[in-house]
Amino acid sequence: MRKNVQVCVVGKVFKPNRLKVLALNRTLNEYFRLVRWYIGFNSKSKSFLHENCYGKAKELFNLNTALIQTARDKAVEILKGFERNRKDDSILRLKGISMRFDRRCYRFSKTTNVLTPYWLTLSLNRREKVSLPIVFGERQRRRIEEALRGEWRFTTVEMVKHYGEWYAHFTLEKVVEVPDEPETIITIDRGEHNLAVAVAISKSNPNKPMKGQFWRGQEIKRIRGLYGHIRRRLQEKKLLKKVKELKGKERRKVNQQLHIIANQIVAYAKQFPKPVIVMEDLSGIRDNFKRSKKLNRRFHSLPFRRLQTIIEYKALLEGIEVRYLTKKETRNTSKTCHRCGHVAQVKGREFRCPKCGLTYNRDLNACINIAHALTRGMGWGSCEPPEPADEGTGAKPALNAGSLVLQGG
Ligand SMILES: [Zn+2]
Repeated sequence: MRKNVQVCVVGKVFKPNRLKVLALNRTLNEYFRLVRWYIGFNSKSKSFLHENCYGKAKELFNLNTALIQTARDKAVEILKGFERNRKDDSILRLKGISMRFDRRCYRFSKTTNVLTPYWLTLSLNRREKVSLPIVFGERQRRRIEEALRGEWRFTTVEMVKHYGEWYAHFTLEKVVEVPDEPETIITIDRGEHNLAVAVAISKSNPNKPMKGQFWRGQEIKRIRGLYGHIRRRLQEKKLLKKVKELKGKERRKVNQQLHIIANQIVAYAKQFPKPVIVMEDLSGIRDNFKRSKKLNRRFHSLPFRRLQTIIEYKALLEGIEVRYLTKKETRNTSKTCHRCGHVAQVKGREFRCPKCGLTYNRDLNACINIAHALTRGMGWGSCEPPEPADEGTGAKPALNAGSLVLQGG
């Protein structure tokens, strides 16, 4: 089966001269006005907007025609997103926006220029073009080199202005081959006591889960705690710009950790024959996110959601498909006994089944239930009553290790 993988590579516009900056700023203002203008029609139909407004937009706005179309798409995306997350009396306020250039209005090439070899040329409007030197960090540069060699397809570039600096966000795409019929299901779930938990279930013996692994995410917790503390101090002193800078720094540090964990998770999945990764669809998580500090599961939800997107493309690049189960399909997975199916109230780190007497790591039990939710749909289930899974004495995550392999499968 063929699947599409997308990655985003960010480069910085390196010391553009004043004229180039002016041209970019002017175009951004025009683009922003146009997106607002499109939003004013309050339509979520691209074809309606195209038929009724496109001609007028070309007259009113001095922008490249491809930009006029991406502005329309953005307006539709913004309206849809707003409707999805809308609270009763909220009004749509558009603070800032990035400009989306598609293949028709940008060119990216490598030159022998000493400043930087990478140059991005944007068509801004009917007459104006601007060429910008782009610099990349090491990891990003390797990816963009792959793309220049033809391993990735260039799709769109988002031009983002952030604190007076300009950044180019390249979206790259490629097609990968994944197995039609997976033989191992790997569930990755957020846990009550762990940032992520993994378990593997094999087609040959679906009732006996193999090798649980935990990622406690302690380093992320530490980073968040530390930065939260500094942030409060700065807020007291009303140093708001510093607060925002710090947010970016915190985000980068957390992301770095998430990449490390995602690599380990994909490596975990790769050790099994024909794996497929299954995760819970958390796209609606913000809606029911209440500010409760008591629940770790909630605390872990937001970084876990970011972790999911990183796992998704890293796995696909290794030829591992990622599937999502809806909230409905994963209902009660944390409260259900994976051995006998009894639904119980859980407290503490252990899941104790009052019906069949199973005592099991709580996060791992939930994970196995998610895997079963998928195997049922794939016809993997057997008629035998499920055996107890590998429990082992290592069911409690080690205190000092970030991750731990419980037991060989
Ligand atoms: Zn039970």
